[in-house]
Amino acid sequence: MPTFQTSPGTRDILPPHAARSREFSRVFAEHVESAGYECIVTPMFEDLGVFQRLGDATDVVTKEMYDFFDKGGRHIALRPEQTASVCRAFAEHRPTPPWKVWYSGSNFRYERPQAGRFRQFDQVGIEVLGVDDPMLDVEVIALGWKFYTLLGLKDVELVINSLGDAGDRENYVEALRIYFNNCIDQLSPEAQSTLLKNPLRVLDSKREQDQVIISGAPIISSFWSQSAAEHFTAVCQGLDLVGVPYVLNEKLVRGLDYYRRTTFEYISRALDSAQNAVGGGGRYDGLVEDLGGPPTPGIGFAIGVDRTLIACDVEGCFPFGSPKIDVFVIDTVDGTHALLVNTSLRDAGFSSDRAYDNRSMKAQMKSADRSGAAFAVIIGSNEIEQSVYTVRNLGSSEQFTVAIPDLLTFLSTHLGPRRRNTP
Ligand code: AMP
Repeated sequence: MPTFQTSPGTRDILPPHAARSREFSRVFAEHVESAGYECIVTPMFEDLGVFQRLGDATDVVTKEMYDFFDKGGRHIALRPEQTASVCRAFAEHRPTPPWKVWYSGSNFRYERPQAGRFRQFDQVGIEVLGVDDPMLDVEVIALGWKFYTLLGLKDVELVINSLGDAGDRENYVEALRIYFNNCIDQLSPEAQSTLLKNPLRVLDSKREQDQVIISGAPIISSFWSQSAAEHFTAVCQGLDLVGVPYVLNEKLVRGLDYYRRTTFEYISRALDSAQNAVGGGGRYDGLVEDLGGPPTPGIGFAIGVDRTLIACDVEGCFPFGSPKIDVFVIDTVDGTHALLVNTSLRDAGFSSDRAYDNRSMKAQMKSADRSGAAFAVIIGSNEIEQSVYTVRNLGSSEQFTVAIPDLLTFLSTHLGPRRRNTP
């Protein structure tokens, strides 16, 4: 047993998994940047108050926050998500709207670890501040949808709903409170305690016992204001127009309290139903104001990186790329030739690696094969005497004798030119 292991709910992401996560973020960045979104980086921790605005009836705020007092006596929390931080940044810096940003990074929630649920997990996401237009909702939802298809996922379902405007939502919550209280004895003990905190969340219960009661509950659409209803109709029509398939679900309420109007979730049908949400988002039209900024509409989504990659594994898509290098340098003389050749190769823009500790020719050849390099440059005493290198194509096993000054030209001819790394 090693002395230390990772804390529950955290993991080391080892090679090649870490490279795959990085590639995931790269594909996401390219995708959303092509739609006008710019990268934002916010701190991993903030004043606890920033996240308390997410709502005092959500588990994320009441139970799952990693909060502590720093040495200056400030009450700090590790971010459980990034929407609140983006809104805080907007209120603090007041950029000109519309502000279209994307992010990528870790979040922290003290949850019960299980498959697909971690205490430190990564999300990529976008947020747009300052636009009311339902066409933006369509753009945002469709960008998330398209990203899953770029990964090669086929079994993702988009579920959408509207929570109405601020007043509509409060009226609906009140109606649910009355309804559930009238049949409280038939609810599971868990749903009964959820009811005390937030009747909306009872709709999320997956317990068999609660399903009949939930199916008879009031539905949100009866509480929509005229403008919320029109907004939602426009969103649905826009999604139809761009051919993004969706399922309407009036029970979709989402975890965080700040959502208004459009809410949506991306569900992987390839995953176990307990943890099958691979992303989600919605409008949060009051959040910037709550954080001290001007009244500003907002919408965004977050995609769970870890869980989406699990869905990719199940569906057999978005494979690991094998890291490839151009050249592996084998030096059986004293190791300094490999040092010099690698330096000049890397300066010339080639990727290259080597073996260490003066290992045998055979051992170095094995490392070269394992590295996936296209060519091995072999330097032994014979080569040094004749001022040449032996260059071996590791794919075809063909060997060439190349004069020392001609090595870069030889490699450029066979591998294509590289951009030089030094001025
Ligand atoms: P949320 O910020 O709760 O709306 O979550 C958005 C997405 O992040 C979810 O659909 C999940 O894919 C992912 N996610 C949320 N919480 C966790 C967690 N504890 N572990 C792994 N992924 C998570």
